[in-house]
Amino acid sequence: MVTSIERWLLGVLGSPSHQRPFMRTRVWWTAIRRASQSTSRQRSSSDGRRARVDWARLMTGTDPTEKLWRDILTGQEPGLLRTRAIFNRIPSDPRCKMCASPFGGAGGALVRLLGHSRAPRNPMMCWACARDLKKHPGGAEIDLSVLFADVRGSTTVAEHMSATAYKNLLHRFYRLASEAITTHDGIVDKYLGDGVMALFIPAFAGEDHASRAVEAARALRQTLTAMPEPRLPVGIGVHSGTAFVGVVGAGDDSDFSALGDVVNVTARLGSSAAAGEVLISIATAEAARVPVETATRRQMELKGRSERLDTIAL
Ligand SMILES: [Zn+2]
Repeated sequence: MVTSIERWLLGVLGSPSHQRPFMRTRVWWTAIRRASQSTSRQRSSSDGRRARVDWARLMTGTDPTEKLWRDILTGQEPGLLRTRAIFNRIPSDPRCKMCASPFGGAGGALVRLLGHSRAPRNPMMCWACARDLKKHPGGAEIDLSVLFADVRGSTTVAEHMSATAYKNLLHRFYRLASEAITTHDGIVDKYLGDGVMALFIPAFAGEDHASRAVEAARALRQTLTAMPEPRLPVGIGVHSGTAFVGVVGAGDDSDFSALGDVVNVTARLGSSAAAGEVLISIATAEAARVPVETATRRQMELKGRSERLDTIAL
């Protein structure tokens, strides 16, 4: 349903081509809802009653919405892509990591009228998306690239300035990281103390998500280097592989995120990279067609893993 405020806004925006995407914010959630409801109905009719606990689903991990989630995350479901394309045209960062509605500036004030204000428990997401994710949990295993940027030696940096000055410096880093990531079609997944984690999902970053992640890492390093003093020393790691992407957690604490080995390894790469260094795995380098012959190779031992990880430093 489109509210009267949305109708007014659509009128202001003008062309009919603008109208559908706002409505489609709800269309792709409706598709997920239908998928889960139809499976629920099938269960009810075969069992004669609705199962309160779906043990089969819990034990096997099968998810009736998995195909739809995969379609969404690999860019086969056009509703979310169109919604993001429209919201990305309205300034300014930061944005909801699902629908890309802006939280900042006049654009943020505008979309708040449509119910896309920041979710109180999940500030990386708008209220409308957080509510719908909670209602329709799910996800799928997909190939993606992950970026992790980490402030090196933050204790030493913070020691030489006031707490407020350090907070301001960190906020500037968050803003620059968010710009570099979203410009390259990544999603800021989390701000983790002194670090930023980003996902490059095929639906939004394209099949060449590894290249986009590497470009984002290079762009972030460049802007951080050009930053006036005092600068934050930041190391960046990028890795590519398969992860579960979707709704993680339960109830009010659920969040759209990624889980799996690729996420853990990227966090280790980010925390191992020296200040000003971009450390990428060979998997990412090959996918992004970064020449590895002339690069500085480094084998990394990762805690809890039997095999060493081949990386190159850019
Ligand atoms: Zn949203």
